[in-house]
Amino acid sequence: MENKPVIADSFGRLFPYMRLSVTDICNFRCTYCLPNGYWKTDSASAFMEQAEIVRLVRAFASLGVWKIRLTGGEPTIRNDFTDIVAVIRDIPGVRKLAFTTNGYKLPQRAQSYYDAGLRAINISIDSLTPDQFKKITGHDRLRDVLEGIQKSFEVGFKDVKINTVLLKGLNDEELDHFIDFVKDKPVSLRFIELMRTLDNQSYFNEHHLSGTIVKEKLLRRGWHLLPREDGAGPALEFKHPDSKGTIGLIAPYSKDFCKSCNRLRVSAKGDLHLCLFGEGGYSLRDYLQSDDQIDELQEKILHLMNFKRSAHFLHDDNSGVREHLASIGG
Ligand code: SAM
Ligand code: SF4
Repeated sequence: MENKPVIADSFGRLFPYMRLSVTDICNFRCTYCLPNGYWKTDSASAFMEQAEIVRLVRAFASLGVWKIRLTGGEPTIRNDFTDIVAVIRDIPGVRKLAFTTNGYKLPQRAQSYYDAGLRAINISIDSLTPDQFKKITGHDRLRDVLEGIQKSFEVGFKDVKINTVLLKGLNDEELDHFIDFVKDKPVSLRFIELMRTLDNQSYFNEHHLSGTIVKEKLLRRGWHLLPREDGAGPALEFKHPDSKGTIGLIAPYSKDFCKSCNRLRVSAKGDLHLCLFGEGGYSLRDYLQSDDQIDELQEKILHLMNFKRSAHFLHDDNSGVREHLASIGG
């Protein structure tokens, strides 16, 4: 059943896609995100509980949002992660449930994720070398994560993506290795340009690398850019006739990145973020407290859309107020 996105902004962009963070907590210590791990003392009640998440998804789905990606922090760290999935999958209008994970316990849990109703999975892998993976994430788990990818195929996931943050001096020498890695796997590996946050300014200066080098390498190696599909997000997607997998490039610092923005974000604390790099969120929490608030909640969401700006201000050295992406889900 078609459900038309009715959430639009004043620039004519439509928003069928929501990234919903379910926790800020993470067990990894990725050097660009949470280098000291998650240390705050937020109690579980700081984050939306299941009933609030359900009300939120109902409201967005009735406004035409049909794709939802659960993220975090590490979303799978929540004990009720699969319960949340199992409830929101049946909400009218929801057609695709995806999640982004560091792959923690994926070999053991892929089946339960699929059974709960998840159909698309993004797994983060910043190095294919065990030592370097450990250096970047603080965990010696590359083997488990790779096993988790295999297991995801086995249990039935057909939409498997890998997120790789491009890091000068840390993984840029592995570009060929990553490209070869997808040759026999039906996955899309996305290189993501490192984004500046409040917490990683000097790290950013040391390790940020423009996605142009990926594009140039791919073209040199005989890859070609696929035509942009209608309604697709801002990733550029490349294909090679001898490779089962594709390579994507997400370059927020590139010109026109924001023109194809099709997503809204809600943090685990129930704040609507109109842009990954905006000036903070708008709390929806007061509107999530009972089932009979749905009309009010929808009105609030539609009103807030008036404040969505045409583009981010990264080029003016303004990355917004985000401490790190674990608080909003990337
Ligand atoms: N913990 C999960 C994971 O790592 O996949 C989900 C949350 S994480 C914030 C979502 C994505 O954002 C990951 O692929 C991560 O590599 C990416 N990310 C985090 N901080 C980033 C940054 N400063 N620049 C670019 N990507 C970043
Ligand atoms: Fe955790 Fe994901 Fe951030 Fe890494 S990128 S520290 S796995 S939230």
